[in-house]
Amino acid sequence: MQVYRASWVLPVSAPPIRNGWVALDGGLVAGVGGAMDSPQTVGCGAAERIDLGEAVIMPALVNAHTHLELSWLRGRTRPASSFLGWVSGMMRERLQSADGRDDAYVRAAMALALDEMKASGTGLVGDISNSLAHLDVLQASGLEGIVFHEVIKFRATDPEEFVDESCRRIEATAIEAGWRLALAPHAPYSVAPSVYRALAGARPRLREARMSVHVAESAEEVEFIGRGSGGWPDLLKRLGAWDPDWRAPQCSPIEYLERLGFWDERTLAVHAVQASPDDLAVLATRGVTLVTCPRSNAWVGAGVPPVEDFYRSGARVAIGTDSLTSVADLNLFSELAALRRLAPGVRPGTLLRSATMSGAEALGFGGSHGTIALGRRAALIAVEVPPGTADVEEYLVSGIEPGKVRWIDQIRAC
Ligand SMILES: [Zn+2]
Repeated sequence: MQVYRASWVLPVSAPPIRNGWVALDGGLVAGVGGAMDSPQTVGCGAAERIDLGEAVIMPALVNAHTHLELSWLRGRTRPASSFLGWVSGMMRERLQSADGRDDAYVRAAMALALDEMKASGTGLVGDISNSLAHLDVLQASGLEGIVFHEVIKFRATDPEEFVDESCRRIEATAIEAGWRLALAPHAPYSVAPSVYRALAGARPRLREARMSVHVAESAEEVEFIGRGSGGWPDLLKRLGAWDPDWRAPQCSPIEYLERLGFWDERTLAVHAVQASPDDLAVLATRGVTLVTCPRSNAWVGAGVPPVEDFYRSGARVAIGTDSLTSVADLNLFSELAALRRLAPGVRPGTLLRSATMSGAEALGFGGSHGTIALGRRAALIAVEVPPGTADVEEYLVSGIEPGKVRWIDQIRAC
């Protein structure tokens, strides 16, 4: 058993503890407390003691939405003023660059991105994969999480068969302990309504019925679903994906998926930049988790997410970075700092809960990750804090560089 002491402990499920300690045994949390309840009095006496000094011990962060296989596109798309402009630039690069067809290049970029995620304190990830071709790279990273296999099908002649095939693909794919596989329809403008219905119907057969969807991200999506107009019909035609029988549902994207019976407590609604208070009420009622990625929203020209409304709605809120095609790094502490700037009315402790416990719950790891509590996994980090830090939660949402972060299991007594 090891007992780690630090100037702060942030259990997340309980208030921050000044001059706290955490006892670990066999990869699990064996005790947590402050000066008043010493390790000896709770049966954690005969242990190796490690004093971390001016630092906060906290759960590893949870990045609830990214696309690691796109990491090779880092730095190749520019910030855009409109979402369709960004999509066109990204697709051009993705389809035309020879680097994207060079498997060694794609893998190396992905491995580097995973190393950087881990170095900046992320331990659990919700990753979107089109190909399922690089699960070994994920598994070698030391992270854990869920891989959402992305489903894209706007013109679906046999939606049941298509969804059955998608289910069979993830059922037939082996994945190591610590990782799970699920499905993720891409977005309302790229997946047919019949496919959403078939996916909702397939949930009972899936071992992991969690699903993720990009929704209400841009003004162009709202226009397309609301009126059938804007740039999407043309782009879908150019891609050969248009369905001439498609009719606009004439509602908001979130209401659209509500009518299709897609939302439930196992779904993740990613972005929701354009969500109205009524839309957010639908998500809260259905128990959906909102995943916000504000730095990506700014980069792709989608706008500013109504973060304070997200929290006001009562829905669970988690945080993602999205991919390196639309953000400079995958450091979730940077995403927290962006959220703090956008939502000064949301308490730092609430944002930190989103980056840990809520993310773990959204990904189905709520029983083991995201908090420091008895019996939970010791997936913990220590973040160096300036001496005399009085409000450790405010400090943690101010932007933390990887050099300040250490993994607890890498620290040994000197
Ligand atoms: Zn995404």
